[in-house]
Amino acid sequence: MMRLFTTAAQLRPIPRSTRFANGGVSFWFRDIGLPERRDPLPGDAEYDVCVVGAGYSGLWTAYYLKKAEPDLRIAVIEREFAGFGASGRNGGWLSAEFAGSRERYAQSHGKSSMIALQRAMMHTVDEVATVARDEGIDADIVRGGMRLVATNAAQRARLVEEIEYLQEWGYWPDDVHLLEPDHEPRLSVAGAVAAAYSPHAARVHPAKLVTGLARVVEGLGVDLFEGTAVEEIRPREGTSAPAVVTDHGTVRAEHVIRATEGFTSTLRGHKREWLPMNSSMIATEPLSDELWEKIGWEGREVLGDSAHSYVYAQRTADGRIAIGGRGVPYRFGSAQDDDGATQPQAIVELWQALVRLFPDASEVPVEHAWSGVLGVPRDWCPSVHLDTASGVGWAGGYVGSGVATSNLAGRTLRDLVLGRESDLTRLPWVGHQVRGWEPEPLRWVGTQMIYGLYRTADRRESRTPEDKAHTSRFAGLATRIAGR
Ligand SMILES: Cc1cc2nc3c(=O)[nH]c(=O)nc-3n(C[C@H](O)[C@H](O)[C@H](O)COP(=O)(O)OP(=O)(O)OC[C@H]3O[C@@H](n4cnc5c(N)ncnc54)[C@H](O)[C@@H]3O)c2cc1C
Repeated sequence: MMRLFTTAAQLRPIPRSTRFANGGVSFWFRDIGLPERRDPLPGDAEYDVCVVGAGYSGLWTAYYLKKAEPDLRIAVIEREFAGFGASGRNGGWLSAEFAGSRERYAQSHGKSSMIALQRAMMHTVDEVATVARDEGIDADIVRGGMRLVATNAAQRARLVEEIEYLQEWGYWPDDVHLLEPDHEPRLSVAGAVAAAYSPHAARVHPAKLVTGLARVVEGLGVDLFEGTAVEEIRPREGTSAPAVVTDHGTVRAEHVIRATEGFTSTLRGHKREWLPMNSSMIATEPLSDELWEKIGWEGREVLGDSAHSYVYAQRTADGRIAIGGRGVPYRFGSAQDDDGATQPQAIVELWQALVRLFPDASEVPVEHAWSGVLGVPRDWCPSVHLDTASGVGWAGGYVGSGVATSNLAGRTLRDLVLGRESDLTRLPWVGHQVRGWEPEPLRWVGTQMIYGLYRTADRRESRTPEDKAHTSRFAGLATRIAGR
């Protein structure tokens, strides 16, 4: 009962639309309507390739394989419907950002290899936009780039350092740079003391992209089964092909690709592999023309800030602001939501961030709140792999940057499955492996500490006088605990 009161009190200051909803997968699916489910797997079956999970990773893998070898028999097995996971819930930043420590990849493969990976990510932004256009997927894509703002002196110092750092790792000056204060097209963010820009990003409507991709993949002749839960993936045993055991029968295939990202911990044998980390979002009602006149944002660039508990935002095709951040990052025992409902605390924090950046939008009602899960490996480094002996491969652990990375993964898995050595299969994230997460309660305590410290660091930095601006020690401690 006490919790109910807290909830109501927490949400009271927030203007909410009469159409306000929390969950229902995401605003994006509310916008286009939840899809009718495809048929489940009809029973035991045999394929050349079986992909588990119909998000971007699984669908891009099926897409590129079928394009390369139209005769391949490919099945994609999905527990709910295509796009139910993070692919239908994200912030719509199709960006060249790659999660993970560059130094770690460089240690195993050399610096030039990591730079090649970064350049491949930049190309991937173009690749997704081009395929979407050529395949007739209308996903509201606008190649407006990415703008990062700093709203205090410590953030500004970090932003400048970050640009210098990126320019050592594959970004040339045209790929990321500081903006002049009067830069056009204008985007007025309150309290911004500096801003950086990269052209390697586009705004997308996540659910339109994933449902469009599913339609295209199906049209190519891939069997997409929905409402079919995979319980276990069994590697090849002797002459027996790898098996995907589901609640509707078992699929045997020469190659099995696991593309379950934040849900991976629910598969038998994978409990501690990738931590299911939550990210939450809110979307406002459409803003009036007068408000857009004040804010600008004509370029439709995706927008982020430089806080440790950073937020990401986009101006949607129908004139809303959709903004996201970590919210309540981790639930005890890797527990997951199933319908995208997010905690009141996350809604409050996101609304406060929205109003901090755009005070003029403080009266605009919030229409939707939701959350989804990302996959976080113990070293925060994404990977893609195919173990030829067992016949089982995977892609993921993208942390918060999977919209473009999943496309690079799909093309890489194509080459790995077809046994082609290529520039893609030589990239340093291929075959990268890491130990699992600690058992509970350590996992839960650790993530609470990490995000608590990041929040403390943000609060301290916002109060630090201009001449003493530096990154708070609390952030460094959080990063060390996280093992990033
Ligand atoms: C709120 C939020 C905001 C984000 N914003 C951005 C962003 O702006 N830019 C960016 O680059 N990244 C962002 N991300 C991350 C990005 O969305 C993901 O990295 C990406 O979508 C992962 O795609 P995926 O296909 O690997 O996983 P998912 O999209 O999660 O797909 C996995 C699929 O597997 C299915 N599945 C799971 N278990 C089983 C099972 N046992 N049997 C059968 N099927 C199963 C699920 O139902 C799901 O459909 C965000 C994520 C979230 C949650």
